[in-house]
Amino acid sequence: MTFSITDILQARQVLRGKADGTPMVPSPFMSGVCGQDFWLKLENMQPIGAFKLRGAMNAVANLAPETKGVTCCSTGNHGRGVAYAAAKRGLRAVICMSNLVPQAKVEGIKALGAEVAIIGSSQDDAQREAERLVAEEGLVEISPFDDADVIAGQGTIGLEMLEACPDLETLLVPLSGGGLAAGVAVAAKALNPRIKVLGVTMERGAAMHASIAAGHPVDVEEVASLADSLGGGIGMDNKLSFPLCRDYLDGTLLVSEAEIRDAMQALFFEDRMVAEGASVVGIAAVLAGKLPPATGSIATIITGRNLDMPNFAKLISGQDTQIGDLLLKGKPYGA
Ligand SMILES: *Cc1c(COP(=O)(O)O)cnc(C)c1O
Repeated sequence: MTFSITDILQARQVLRGKADGTPMVPSPFMSGVCGQDFWLKLENMQPIGAFKLRGAMNAVANLAPETKGVTCCSTGNHGRGVAYAAAKRGLRAVICMSNLVPQAKVEGIKALGAEVAIIGSSQDDAQREAERLVAEEGLVEISPFDDADVIAGQGTIGLEMLEACPDLETLLVPLSGGGLAAGVAVAAKALNPRIKVLGVTMERGAAMHASIAAGHPVDVEEVASLADSLGGGIGMDNKLSFPLCRDYLDGTLLVSEAEIRDAMQALFFEDRMVAEGASVVGIAAVLAGKLPPATGSIATIITGRNLDMPNFAKLISGQDTQIGDLLLKGKPYGA
């Protein structure tokens, strides 16, 4: 399978006026921390509250006219994107999820008119249900990350970031299945070959990081994380997002749950933004001193805002938070 900037330029035509053109704003706080301009690409401003609308809309637009309906396996935001895009095209959508997915995300998907199937306690269990729907009910499955149309859709973010800021030195991309990082890295490097694109993910369950290190897709144990949108494996038969991340990323960085919490608090109290744990891993890496000293401007993607507000309120106010089997001791911002 081949993939190039051409796919991303085509996706841009499909998404124009529907799922593009989110703001790119400076963060005075983070710029102060880095001593360099620090930019936030606000994909939390998408109609579904996350960037995944881009890939989903591009994939749904490219389906054959006789398609009966679509299904996918999703930690929430891809499902929401597919549900939204399918509804716009008048197609049936069945979204398969594990019981690790926060209730707020399930409700968000149902509100868009899609059917929801909650199966088992891992992405793999949800995946088997999606495969059954394809085999028995003739639906078309849209992978959240290992699909050329999806990667092309996500890649349009990279085009917009480099057009807004052509001299970016470092781009920090939240990393899970790698559809976002693959598309953004291909786009960014087409426009500026010198840019460094780093994937950032949580220590707990870093599937793409472990796979790149091993040289092939590997399974990691899936556990709960504040960055729930980054959960799940990359697929042992990964065809596209793994080789693209392996070849185009300049490295990967890992952050802890406490570092993710600190970054969510910083973004909230300093820049007054509500963002998912998955969205702030780039900020977390910088605040934790995990980036080499910058000599030019930095940007990250605020990938989504679809979190559980009661839990967010507790985390922000410094209360203890249970994350699966881990108790994260509370800490008020700045304490
Ligand atoms: C899906 C998702 C990511 C990671 O994207 P991948 O293409 O799976 O690497 C990051 N942030 C949010 C909010 C997401 O929903």
